[in-house]
Amino acid sequence: MAQVYDCIIVGCGPAGLSAALNLKIRNKSFIILGTKDCSQWLAKAERVDNYLGFPAISGSELRDRFFDHIHQQGIEQMDARVSAIYGGEGTFSLMAGRDTYQSRTVIVATGVHVERLLPGENELLGRGVSYCATCDGPLYKGKKVALIDYTQGEAWDEALFLSELAAKVYYLSATGQNEAKAFTPSTNPKNMEFPLGKVLALKGNESIASLQTDDQEIPIDGVFILRETMKAENLLPGLETRDGAIIVDAHMRTNMPGVFAGGDCTGKPYQLAKAVGQGAIAALSAVSFLDEQQRTPAKGL
Ligand SMILES: Cc1cc2nc3c(=O)[nH]c(=O)nc-3n(C[C@H](O)[C@H](O)[C@H](O)COP(=O)(O)OP(=O)(O)OC[C@H]3O[C@@H](n4cnc5c(N)ncnc54)[C@H](O)[C@@H]3O)c2cc1C
Repeated sequence: MAQVYDCIIVGCGPAGLSAALNLKIRNKSFIILGTKDCSQWLAKAERVDNYLGFPAISGSELRDRFFDHIHQQGIEQMDARVSAIYGGEGTFSLMAGRDTYQSRTVIVATGVHVERLLPGENELLGRGVSYCATCDGPLYKGKKVALIDYTQGEAWDEALFLSELAAKVYYLSATGQNEAKAFTPSTNPKNMEFPLGKVLALKGNESIASLQTDDQEIPIDGVFILRETMKAENLLPGLETRDGAIIVDAHMRTNMPGVFAGGDCTGKPYQLAKAVGQGAIAALSAVSFLDEQQRTPAKGL
């Protein structure tokens, strides 16, 4: 039986790491699932002047300091991009690649979602457009699917998973150059193709019919779009957002019991100090929630 953690933190930027530190200090079982770089945003900040105690520090140095701190506490982040979260009887299931992780609470610390949607994406969502290969892949047994990878190769494992089910998998990258072909050229599955060209639009009426690149139109039955970040309400259906930001109260509670959020994903200002503070509050609120659950076990979420 898989371990059920007290908490799973999604995102390993300043908010997620701060949440982790506080959960550790409060002796809770947890994991942090994050993408490889752990905050491209922080890494891009050339010089940070407004983070107390660290004048004129670069974002990458600050990130190293954050990592040193959590490693000293014995905390390790796992490279795993979460593609869907489902709530159940007192337990959440988080899908990441081929793996499923379970927890009693979730802290969403995924940063801000800035990627522009493709034309047709919203209209065809759930009608051939999916964000989770593990969840929806089995629907496309023997069919033709495309995977659009905006994650610089982190979605490769999901493409391999699809190739075990689908008749054909078109793997396309954000740049249109399809660097992925070079990952494992000798072992690429035979039913995988690597079209060049940027994806411009998704087409279809009742359901998806094709994908348009600047080079060609490819007929497909389904498409999986994998990005660094995704809209919070697509990650966790039912999560309330306003203008793309997760709605939280002063305790970083969302509208879903057991789900907390912190950092840029809760809206402006997009600032480090706020992210670190909200991550800490989200962790302490998760601890209170867990303690309360222990006193009065939940009947459901
Ligand atoms: C150029 C630049 C300069 C900046 N300068 C400053 C400054 O001087 N001062 C200041 O206060 N702030 C500055 N910022 C803002 C600051 O970097 C952000 O406010 C801060 O990084 C937010 O932290 P966060 O943890 O909320 O989100 P992020 O740092 O964005 O981290 C979120 C993490 O979650 C990961 N993630 C997302 N979705 C998933 C998923 N589904 N599964 C797993 N992982 C996921 C992301 O890949 C990312 O690693 C700057 C930002 C930029 C871009």
